[in-house]
Amino acid sequence: MRVLGIETSCDETAVALVETNPWTTDVLAEVVSSQIELHRPYGGVVPEMATREHLKNLPLLVPRVMKEVNLGLDAVDAIAATEGPGLASSLLIGHSYARAMAVALSKPMVGVNHLEGHLYSPFIAHRRAVEFPFVGLIASGGHTLLVHALGWDRYVKLGSTVDDAAGEAFDKVAKLLGLPYPGGPEIEKMAKQGNPEAFGLPRSFPERDNLNFSFSGLKTAVRFFFEKSPQLRSDPAWVHDLCASFQKAVVDVLVRKAVHAVSLARVERLVVSGGVLCNQALRHELEFACYEGEIELLLAEAELCTDNAAMIAGTAAEKLEAGIEPYVGNDIDPNLDLFAPEPNGDFARGLSTAIKLKNRQKKDVTQKEGVGAPGEIEIW
Ligand code: ADP
Ligand code: MG
Repeated sequence: MRVLGIETSCDETAVALVETNPWTTDVLAEVVSSQIELHRPYGGVVPEMATREHLKNLPLLVPRVMKEVNLGLDAVDAIAATEGPGLASSLLIGHSYARAMAVALSKPMVGVNHLEGHLYSPFIAHRRAVEFPFVGLIASGGHTLLVHALGWDRYVKLGSTVDDAAGEAFDKVAKLLGLPYPGGPEIEKMAKQGNPEAFGLPRSFPERDNLNFSFSGLKTAVRFFFEKSPQLRSDPAWVHDLCASFQKAVVDVLVRKAVHAVSLARVERLVVSGGVLCNQALRHELEFACYEGEIELLLAEAELCTDNAAMIAGTAAEKLEAGIEPYVGNDIDPNLDLFAPEPNGDFARGLSTAIKLKNRQKKDVTQKEGVGAPGEIEIW
């Protein structure tokens, strides 16, 4: 089965073609058009500019992907697009484009949850079929999330950030220090030359069984040191030390909680993705901790850490192959969640509620629309 995937949840326009094989789902071609340079002067993503770029890019990128593999669109079995979460206006462009293609080509259209795509991306990187159960850590610009993945559509939230996402914290601290957007790679560059023990910065929720994250206290602590020391800000060594200490504080918390989540969920595999995983210190610390704890670790490779369409097409293909009806509807949902609400944080109760809700959603939104000749068109 070949699936063409489109991802436009934020500021990257991405298109990919994947093909399922007996043991793997292979990425045949993929392109990502990043808008980082466009948004850099504003220090963050400007939604309307992102939307216009997606509109301009998609009609160029889809033919480029098909040309790369020398195939016509008739060789595609389904079209997938990110349904949420993300910026509403950006999501609408990719989702509408995919729906229009599906109608024109008489192919099924599948909506994919961006977070489910991130969870799945390390399996693509390792050229492996997805294997449940596992604990997934997503650390990106918009999310910091620990998930117990029991099967497709069966996710239990173990922890998430109560304020800033990890990538957001990198971006905000970089802005404070006068470094360009996005801040993660800039801080990492500075941190390489600094001493991670130079500043005593706080770690959020040190209680062992609390798997939530908080990065705003850490951000405030960095601001405190920065504002208290105007005379030192021009000293590169001082800035390097501050970046290294900040990075270590984020990495420490992510690694400690992810490893503990694996033991609480009683699984043997940790799967990590999201833009912050481009950070080499985080990758090394995860590798070390998982080696020590005898945990199997799957890391997404750098190109699949940040937003990409291979994870969207791949998730759709794997779910279709597994005979799972896509549960998402005909429209985008900027707040699309992976989970049902978890009453009182009760693990088992949360899980059963999640499954019940998902089943109900399936019945509600799965519909078949015959949209005339040629052939029958299925829009999920
Ligand atoms: P989202 O989809 O939520 O926008 P992405 O998965 O695209 O996020 O990741 C972007 C985030 O990753 C940004 O916040 C960026 O600063 C962060 N990031 C990228 N590279 C690094 C790095 N080397 N170290 C830390 N953070 C990084
Ligand atoms: Mg993302």
